[in-house]
Amino acid sequence: MIVSSAFAGKRYAILGLARSGMAVLESLHASGAKLLAWDNREELRDSVADKALIADPLESDLTGYEAIILSPGVPLNNHPIAQKAKAEAVPIIGDIELFAQARASLPSHRVVGITGTNGKSTTTALVHHILESAGVPTVMGGNIGVPILSQQPLPEGGVYVLELSSYQIDLTSSLDCDVALLLNISPDHLDRYAGFDDYAASKARLFDMLGSDHTAIFASNDEKSRLALDGLRDLGRVQNIIDTSSAEIAGQPDWPALQGPHNLQNAIAAIAVVEALGISENQWRPALASFGGLAHRMERVAESHGVLFVNDSKATNPASTGPALGAYPKIHWILGGLPKSDALTECEPYYKNVIRAYTIGEAGPMFGKLLADHVPVEPCEMMLTAVQRAAANARPGEVVLLSPACASFDQFRDFEARGNCFRSAVNSVIESKLIGTATGEAI
Ligand code: ADP
Repeated sequence: MIVSSAFAGKRYAILGLARSGMAVLESLHASGAKLLAWDNREELRDSVADKALIADPLESDLTGYEAIILSPGVPLNNHPIAQKAKAEAVPIIGDIELFAQARASLPSHRVVGITGTNGKSTTTALVHHILESAGVPTVMGGNIGVPILSQQPLPEGGVYVLELSSYQIDLTSSLDCDVALLLNISPDHLDRYAGFDDYAASKARLFDMLGSDHTAIFASNDEKSRLALDGLRDLGRVQNIIDTSSAEIAGQPDWPALQGPHNLQNAIAAIAVVEALGISENQWRPALASFGGLAHRMERVAESHGVLFVNDSKATNPASTGPALGAYPKIHWILGGLPKSDALTECEPYYKNVIRAYTIGEAGPMFGKLLADHVPVEPCEMMLTAVQRAAANARPGEVVLLSPACASFDQFRDFEARGNCFRSAVNSVIESKLIGTATGEAI
């Protein structure tokens, strides 16, 4: 765990005791801070009663507190804590900001910060993998699911690779990354922001914190990324600005876990990051080939009788599903769930790759209407039905792809549960020899 003398003797209030809140509590406690902690769930409060005063910060006098540490899951835009913090002049920060404040007491190191609407986890894991393959001490943390404060401190020369959501950036004010990467910006999470402009501005703040001799990388030329890039160039403060949006690189067929145009964008961005850290092509090229990918992101779950089954459950918006459809020429596409918009705009250029669509969940009927004039659609409602029908229709050389373009919460706990359900359904159709039964290719 990362601890720091910078926190000793200071008072902090922690609101939200999920994964990152717990890591904050442990780290601050071990650093000698005085803590007040709260979560709506009683069992979480009880579990930390020996390390913190248990009280609701909304009902406590926070005068003299160093900061309120908020879990990124608490909506800063409409939670009453924002008002109270302002009234009592206590800053609201998150675990990434605490990490930034702890850096001075860590052995000399560098930090990579990666943000964007889509591709953050893949790119974070890829940068980490390339560095590890090159023998650089490295850990990843942040939105990737591992709180950074729970990681072991790196020895001198190490690189911390942070995946940063916009919520985390909102709670951070002094993270000066050595290399900061913005992958792309498309509309998402608009329930937490006043609008698309605010969401984009939140991502771009990563660069406001960047020291002038550090490196900013922009990977996409979507409208908001371009605005952020132009804005940073106009300021003239940051010296090293790299735009990889039109960069090209050969070799993608040799990188099995990085298929599709989006993963080419991610790979090019990751290469720019590691090159900025001094890694050479001899080091990064073999690492792209050995990268194993992440579960639920273009994950090849099975291949049977020439049909490939791909789990892209993490594609929770049309902008992330579009490029997934671009990865293969003959796709049986399973989509649907809790819709984030009533259009599939970013998917449209790739309809030519779709042999047939199978809709599930709440968005099913709406997507059915949108797709009807372009591809044959089978309304399925349930995942198992969709996988069974897609497998029955598939011929050798074709791909059954779950890339839902929706959140999962109408039918599943989260995108992982949805991807696991897809995987079990795939195993069951393979066991029951269903593949190709509708096409005369039955086995
Ligand atoms: P994040 O952590 O930003 O949600 P992930 O790496 O988990 O990103 O990928 C989420 C989904 O977005 C994946 O299912 C993948 O299909 C898609 N995706 C990955 N990279 C990109 C990209 N650069 N542009 C658009 N979509 C992407």
